[in-house]
Amino acid sequence: MSISTRLENIGRLLKDKGHKLTVQREAVVRVLLENENGHLSAEDVFMIQKETFPEIGLATIYRTLELLNELNIVEKMIFADGVARFNLRSEGHAHMHHHLICASCGKLKEIKDDWLSELENRLAREYGFIVTDHRLDFMGYFQACNGHDCSRTSKAVS
Ligand SMILES: [Zn+2]
Ligand SMILES: [Zn+2]
Ligand SMILES: [Zn+2]
Repeated sequence: MSISTRLENIGRLLKDKGHKLTVQREAVVRVLLENENGHLSAEDVFMIQKETFPEIGLATIYRTLELLNELNIVEKMIFADGVARFNLRSEGHAHMHHHLICASCGKLKEIKDDWLSELENRLAREYGFIVTDHRLDFMGYFQACNGHDCSRTSKAVS
């Protein structure tokens, strides 16, 4: 799906919830679309878009990201460094993907399959509970990193 189609879809989602896709919001969403799986902080977004829209301040970006998080358009993750990072949720899949987070170098990998479907079925069956979302983050080391300080160069999240 093209970036402009996805931008339109997100614009529609915002509108449905009573929010406008302003120029500022569109600029933020565009950065997220162009950096898929980037798990960007507000500062990252600011740095990327300041060439094109230097007038959009960090506070506006932060507010926009928080709004997108409330509307479930992005996921918000707080890493060990305490910084909130944002990533677009994939379209057509309501449930949150899983993360593998390397404690040595900070590298982050996403598992796109929903490994919890079986458990969800069981919860429905045994508890009459319908799962609408979940999060599952694994902390540990990639084998290639284990035992070495991988010099924190391959940080996928910054
Ligand atoms: Zn699920
Ligand atoms: Zn690592
Ligand atoms: Zn993610």
